[in-house]
Amino acid sequence: MGRIVIDKESCKGCSICMEVCPKHLIHPSSETNAHGVNFAEFKDAKNECLGCAICAHSCPDAAITEVYKS
Ligand code: SF4
Ligand code: SF4
Repeated sequence: MGRIVIDKESCKGCSICMEVCPKHLIHPSSETNAHGVNFAEFKDAKNECLGCAICAHSCPDAAITEVYKS
């Protein structure tokens, strides 16, 4: 089980993290950040996150700042 933290103000909304997550746990927010971007949002209602960090390693802007694995 894992968890990530996304810095919404650093997110450009490129969707790379959404495409690479094997569990499809990252989606565009319905809200926008200060840059007018529908930033990436992590939602894991069923505790499926693997803590694999593929998302964080794929983000070109290092907007996924923390990955926890337990
Ligand atoms: S750590 Fe892995 S499973 Fe969890 S959100 Fe990132 S890519 Fe998906
Ligand atoms: S890869 Fe990074 S910049 Fe792109 S949508 Fe995901 S968190 Fe945002």
